[in-house]
Amino acid sequence: MKEFGYHRASTVDDAVALLDREPGARVLGGGTNLVDLMKSGVEEPSLLVDVRELPLDLIEPTGNGGLRIGATVANSDLAAHPEVRRRWPALAQALLAGASGQVRNMATVGGNLLQRTRCAYFANPAMPCNKRVPGSGCAARGGEHRNHAVLGWSEHCVATHPSDMAVALTAFDAVVTVATPAGETDIPLSDFYLPVGRTPHRETVLPAAALITAVTLPGLPVAARSRYRKVRERASFAFAIGSVAAAVEIADGQVRDARLAFGAVASRPWRARSAERALIGSPAVPETFAAAADAELSAAKTLPDNGYKVALIRELTVATLSELTRETSR
Ligand SMILES: Cc1cc2nc3c(=O)[nH]c(=O)nc-3n(C[C@H](O)[C@H](O)[C@H](O)COP(=O)(O)OP(=O)(O)OC[C@H]3O[C@@H](n4cnc5c(N)ncnc54)[C@H](O)[C@@H]3O)c2cc1C
Ligand code: SF4
Repeated sequence: MKEFGYHRASTVDDAVALLDREPGARVLGGGTNLVDLMKSGVEEPSLLVDVRELPLDLIEPTGNGGLRIGATVANSDLAAHPEVRRRWPALAQALLAGASGQVRNMATVGGNLLQRTRCAYFANPAMPCNKRVPGSGCAARGGEHRNHAVLGWSEHCVATHPSDMAVALTAFDAVVTVATPAGETDIPLSDFYLPVGRTPHRETVLPAAALITAVTLPGLPVAARSRYRKVRERASFAFAIGSVAAAVEIADGQVRDARLAFGAVASRPWRARSAERALIGSPAVPETFAAAADAELSAAKTLPDNGYKVALIRELTVATLSELTRETSR
C-alpha cells in the first residue's frame, strides 16, 4: 500500500479546507470500502481526512415532517432508529439487508452513498477498466458480467451501483447536503449520480473538495407503507443481484400514490418513474404491477449472461407490490 497521511478533522470547515488544499486527499468514513480499495491499489490517496469525530452523527426531525440524517451516522444506528422503522420502513429493511452487523456498525451514510462498484475488474488493477483508468477498456463486457447492468449502461461501462440504502433513499426523494469551498448546497439524490455515458469514472455531480454532511428525507406519508426486497446469492453478507424499494397508497382498490426504485440494475439506484406513472390511478392488482414493471423494463438492454435480471426485477416488483397491497387492505 502506498504511504499516506492521516488527519482527524475537527470541524467541517477544517475538513473542506484540507480537501481543497490537497487534491489527492480522500474523506475517510467507516473505511469499509475505501481501505479495501487502498489495499488492492485501486485507491492511492495522499491523505485521509477522517470525518468520524465531526458533529455529523445526529438524526433529527425537520420542521416539515422529514428527517435529517448526519453523514457520519452509522448504518446500524439508522436502521434501528424508531422513526425510520415506523415512517420509512423500506429504508430500515434495505440497511439491514446490507453487509453484516460488524460492517454496518462501521459504515456511514456518506460512505454508503459513495461506495464503489463491486465489478471484479474494477477491483483488479491488472485488468482494463474505464472506470478505474479512463480509456483502458471494459473487461466485463466480454468477461464475467452476470451481475452487471441492464438499464442505463453505455459501451464504456456496464457496472452496477452496490448500495441497498441508496435504493430506498432514491424512492423517497432524499436530498444530499454537501459542504464545499464555495459553501453548502443541497442536491436531490435523483440528480446526485451521473449517467454513465463516456465518463464512467465520474460517478456523481460532487465538485472537488466536497464533503457530504447530511441526507434529508422529506415528509412522505406513502413511505410508511413501504418495503425493500433484495435477491442475493446467499442469505446474508452478499450484495444484491436485484432489489426493489416500493411504497404504495391504496384506496378503494386503486393505487393512489406509489414510489418505486430498483437496485443492482444500473450504475446508480434506478428510480422507476415510468412504472410509477403506470401504477397511479390503476387497480391495485398483480396485472397492473406486472404492466408497470414492463413499462420500466422495456428500456432494458441485456448482456449475454445477465438477461435473467429483467425477469427477476419484474417478479420482485409484482411480489413486493402485492405484499404491500395485502398489508394495506387488512
Ligand atoms: C464484506 C462486505 C459486504 C458488504 N455488503 C453490502 C451489501 O450487501 N449492501 C450494501 O449496500 N453495501 C454492502 N457493503 C458495502 C458497505 O455498505 C460500504 O462499504 C459502506 O457503506 C461504506 O461506508 P464507509 O463509511 O465505510 O465508507 P468509506 O469506505 O469510508 O468511504 C467510501 C467512499 O466514500 C467517501 N466518503 C465517505 N464519507 C464521505 C463524506 N461524508 N463525504 C464525502 N465523501 C465521503 C470516501 O472518500 C470513499 O470514497 C459491504 C461491505 C463489505 C466490506
Ligand atoms: S463494467 Fe465498468 S467497472 Fe467493470 S470493467 Fe467495465 S468499465 Fe470497469
